[in-house]
Amino acid sequence: MQQGSGNEFDPDAVRSKYLAERDKRLVPGRADIRDLDHDDRFARYRSDPFTPYQERDPVTEETDVVIVGGGIAGILVGTQLRKAGVERFRIIDQAGGLGGTWYWNRYPGVMCDVESYIYLPMLEELDYLPRHRYAFGDEILAHLQAIGDRYDLDRGALFHTGVTSATWDEGSGRWQVATDRGDRLSARYYVLAVGILNLLKLPDIAGMEDFAGHSFHSARWDYAYTGGGPGRPMTELGDKVVGLLGTGATGIQCVEPLARAARHLYVFQRTPSAIGVRDNRPTDPTFASGLQPGWQRARMDNFQAVMLGRPVEADLVDDSWTHDYAAVQNPPRKRPDESFAEWMRRAEEVDFGIMEAHRSRVADVVEDPATAESLKPWYRYLCKRPCFHDEYLSAFNHPNVSLVDCPGGIDRIDPAGPVVDGTTYELDCLVYATGFQAELTPLYRRAGHDIVGADGVTLADRWADGAATLFGMMLPGFPNLFAMPAPGQQAVVTVNYTQLAVLGAEVIGATIAALTADGSPVFEVTEQAEAEWTSGIVGSFVDASPVMAACTPSRINNEGHPEQLNPRNGNYGRGFGDFFAYRDLLRSWLEAGDLEGLEVR
Ligand code: NAP
Repeated sequence: MQQGSGNEFDPDAVRSKYLAERDKRLVPGRADIRDLDHDDRFARYRSDPFTPYQERDPVTEETDVVIVGGGIAGILVGTQLRKAGVERFRIIDQAGGLGGTWYWNRYPGVMCDVESYIYLPMLEELDYLPRHRYAFGDEILAHLQAIGDRYDLDRGALFHTGVTSATWDEGSGRWQVATDRGDRLSARYYVLAVGILNLLKLPDIAGMEDFAGHSFHSARWDYAYTGGGPGRPMTELGDKVVGLLGTGATGIQCVEPLARAARHLYVFQRTPSAIGVRDNRPTDPTFASGLQPGWQRARMDNFQAVMLGRPVEADLVDDSWTHDYAAVQNPPRKRPDESFAEWMRRAEEVDFGIMEAHRSRVADVVEDPATAESLKPWYRYLCKRPCFHDEYLSAFNHPNVSLVDCPGGIDRIDPAGPVVDGTTYELDCLVYATGFQAELTPLYRRAGHDIVGADGVTLADRWADGAATLFGMMLPGFPNLFAMPAPGQQAVVTVNYTQLAVLGAEVIGATIAALTADGSPVFEVTEQAEAEWTSGIVGSFVDASPVMAACTPSRINNEGHPEQLNPRNGNYGRGFGDFFAYRDLLRSWLEAGDLEGLEVR
């Protein structure tokens, strides 16, 4: 027994339980997915149910900037360009409008579990305060569109349009961009703001193509079938048996609205998520009156500092991220001379206490003991992306909701429905809340088109051995190209992605503005700058694979193979990276104004 903190537990017994639960899920093929690019049988899963497709003539023109992606990243780059007076740019997106992830993800119950006051960008500038502590998706989408309206970002935007190739043309010093609508754009600067979780994932389950009922992915919710809309009851499900496959951050948000609407709901769970307290509430009317100019940046910094274990006067966000996640991520050292082994032991103890609290919450809320047992998460807290919800667990107390626990996955899908341990679950409708290709999916794959650089080499070939960048944003061999910072890309990783997007957009916007003011020269990352940046990334890589190998398989540990994580794809600073050091470095670079590390010609 480990003693002394109030969390007495037998570490060996807990470790054994964690490994046993992991092994149930480490089954061959667990990460196999359908190839939506090439398998026509599944093409419909990606089509847009929200905005009608409109024919238009192809566009052929020269422009200053092409931004690929109209989500938060692309929107923020666009606003920076407008502010800097760079007027000739086009946003291109496969969606039918702005919003990115919030355009596509309109499933019932969709919300952001990161505090709205730090997640929704540009709140001060738009003089807007979200209605709740955690905003629902429709409000986030409306806010992003409001930013688009303020900065006229729809002007020139090409929606329902996919880039098919982008090729650097040395002769003209321009990117030649081709799209699936026949557009031919010639752009001085090319910005990849393609998103992180933009490639939806459909698992490879035998027989799924023969399912006789209706099916769709959560990122293309079919309200024409379910009735209702985001925030409105799904009126067409009262006589339907619905299956929900997946219990990640998306699935857990869908359950309660589906439980209210469907005749019966089967929730197919491979791995239980850790469901922390969310405690959503309407924004206090007095909140706004206490805010001083600059409050949003200060609040984002405060959250970031808490998450990085830095001292703060007060934890302003004060939620389960800042309590649980921050505590596990950065348990403070007890004494300056505390040994690493001692610190690791205490970290495990903190982790155990937090996971025990999650398991107790399940037992307290869920009435059926067998269901409660199956919903308990048995792994260390950071093994999976944590979730936060106050209605998910109690939904299993509804008589029309059944949990189907299938740690090894679904056996197969018959025309009648999924088969688990020999039992067929007959369904009218099956929703795949099976997520997206992992955050670490390389940039060239997330971009979804060939990017051909100065020497005719594609980004995929150039990055065959891992990422090569300056600041995670400029790519050697790819002149006049910028990529918004993202995981796996030699930048930093943050829980509040918006804060990183704000920084990336400021850097890219200011750099393009400075170059434009200077006659729009061609720039290229020098070999030396790339080598130094990459060696810094590799040098600070912490090999956490021994700890991660004990994790239940997930996107975070490369589905059980953390040893395959490439140090070149790491972050600036140890672990998830040091956001503040990264920001300071970028700001100093901008202030110096000499574009050090870039050859400008
Ligand atoms: P996800 O976290 O990848 O979860 C996918 C779910 O599908 C998991 O439960 C997974 O089981 C299950 N699954 C996948 N393949 C399966 C198979 N072959 N058989 C059975 N089950 C299978 O995806 P997500 O829930 O869409 O979330 C993705 C990310 O989006 C999140 O991590 C988060 O970053 C973001 N997100 C954020 C919010 C927010 O509030 N901020 C909300 C939603 C999403 P296993 O767990 O066993 O793999």
